[in-house]
Amino acid sequence: MHSFVVNLGVVTLLTAALSVKELLKWYGKEVLALNKVSFDVDEGDFFVIIGPSGCGKSTLLKCVSGILDWNDGDIYIGGKSMRDVPAYKRDIALMPEAYALFPHMRVYDNVAFGLRMHGRPEDEIGKEVENALKLVGLEGFGKRWPSELSGGQRQRISLARAIVVNPKVLLLDEPLSHVDYRLQRKLMEDFKLLHEELGNTWILTTHVQEQGLSMAETLLVMNNGVIEQIGRPEEVYKWPRTVFAARFVGNINLLHGEVVSQEKGGCAVKTELGELSGTFAGDSNLIGRKVAYGVRPENIVINPKATVDNKVGAKLTGLYYFGELVEYMFKTEGAIEMKARTSPVECKLGEKYTIGWDRRDASILERPSMIEGLNIEDVIYGR
Ligand code: ADP
Repeated sequence: MHSFVVNLGVVTLLTAALSVKELLKWYGKEVLALNKVSFDVDEGDFFVIIGPSGCGKSTLLKCVSGILDWNDGDIYIGGKSMRDVPAYKRDIALMPEAYALFPHMRVYDNVAFGLRMHGRPEDEIGKEVENALKLVGLEGFGKRWPSELSGGQRQRISLARAIVVNPKVLLLDEPLSHVDYRLQRKLMEDFKLLHEELGNTWILTTHVQEQGLSMAETLLVMNNGVIEQIGRPEEVYKWPRTVFAARFVGNINLLHGEVVSQEKGGCAVKTELGELSGTFAGDSNLIGRKVAYGVRPENIVINPKATVDNKVGAKLTGLYYFGELVEYMFKTEGAIEMKARTSPVECKLGEKYTIGWDRRDASILERPSMIEGLNIEDVIYGR
């Protein structure tokens, strides 16, 4: 919960905005939704929790906001235990997944709701509501009914209702799941700007990897009630700690194999495509171990230089244009699919090519998941 920062010889004690310790949450006796989850969120962070549907994201936010009780562990906000603190006394606002605006209240009253609950005087409320509506770009919308708003506008009003109480921590549960793709992009930019302007701590959940990667300052990857990895997005993308994190964050070609030799920083792995070399960031002895071998599509070169570390022959079976980038689908002799993503190159469907990549661009992963006892091949192939 606390971290020390040494600044010009002065030791300062920093308290995390939110600290979750060994949080355990069961629904009945059947569903273990959070399995001893622990993490800290720094003051002012834009913290994104990413994971597949049903992995426990909403449950976590509900526990933090005070809607749900938990079985064991604790939650601290600004260093204070929330165990016996009711929802309305936590310095937190939750923007729920569905907009949850009160349909029988005009926009103004919807946004004013939290301030009235806190017993603020009406003239102050008026100013705060107008300011919140301005911040979300909907100045002058106070008289409308929720039914007179588009999906994007409802989302913004829901956001205005959350930020108007000036919470220390703002929780946004899947805020982009009910709007179309174009609007998602726009809202993502707006959220980032607003976060910068307000300077408080934002925690957002999503099951969409692109949103997690592009918005987060810190990314938490969750799987079945367990944390797979926490880090800066580029760190998680480049150095996934588990096969699950590698698969869930970004695209990756994954193979499995057995380590045949190891030296500092790297290994040779016997895979379905022959012996391939890759980077291993850990220090365990992997010789003879079953591992995953992953290479991101943007690191695969079509017709590589002779000096490239790994090469395989493959037939081009598909290609998809993404503007300046093209995704090329290859099938190797053993019918393994490999995807490359590069700027356009001269290539014909059905023709055979050599594809290659350097060992520094291939990761060797020893852990399938932070969940104990999973089979590495099952996680690689998403079974
Ligand atoms: P996410 O937000 O990541 O989609 P949730 O937190 O909603 O995941 O759900 C986590 C797990 O808890 C899932 O298995 C879900 O089915 C289960 N769950 C959620 N709410 C309830 C509930 N009220 N009663 C029983 N099980 C629940």
